[in-house]
Amino acid sequence: MNDCIFCKIASKELPSYTIFEDDDVLSFLDIRPVHPGHSLVISKRHDPDFLALDQEAIMKMMGTIARIGRAVKTATGADGLNITTNVGAAAGQEVFHVHWHIIPRFTGDGLRRFPQQEYASKEEAFAALSHIKSALAISTAKPA
Ligand code: AMP
Ligand code: ZN
Repeated sequence: MNDCIFCKIASKELPSYTIFEDDDVLSFLDIRPVHPGHSLVISKRHDPDFLALDQEAIMKMMGTIARIGRAVKTATGADGLNITTNVGAAAGQEVFHVHWHIIPRFTGDGLRRFPQQEYASKEEAFAALSHIKSALAISTAKPA
């Protein structure tokens, strides 16, 4: 039995404040918004997170995210948006079915960016860079 809450929303077993849907993608209001109009875009197919998607599914999702993003910004009068996806519990993911957040943001709304820091040295930056480039060479060898 599939206990995934977003699969149940995609199959209409559970209700949602639906904004848009096509064969592959569904968008609806987040039930606990950062600000009213905070929206989600999900893939109808169950995949645990964005990194699990194939290239075709990624393209379909991103097109809809941009479309819904424009609509949310216009409709809410937001000054900006955070368009974000959490990958993994360590990153704050709670629903393990791929979804993107479209969060209206307002000048002076008091919400902050992630805390950031300087690299301790150029060596530390180059080490991070070379590890990522090595991983990229491996991952690009996989089929798209
Ligand atoms: P994440 O932390 O990225 O996994 O975010 C999951 C989001 O799903 C949260 O912002 C929740 O408020 C939202 N959410 C959970 N259940 C529902 C639901 N039934 N309808 C709409 N949004 C939901
Ligand atoms: Zn699911």
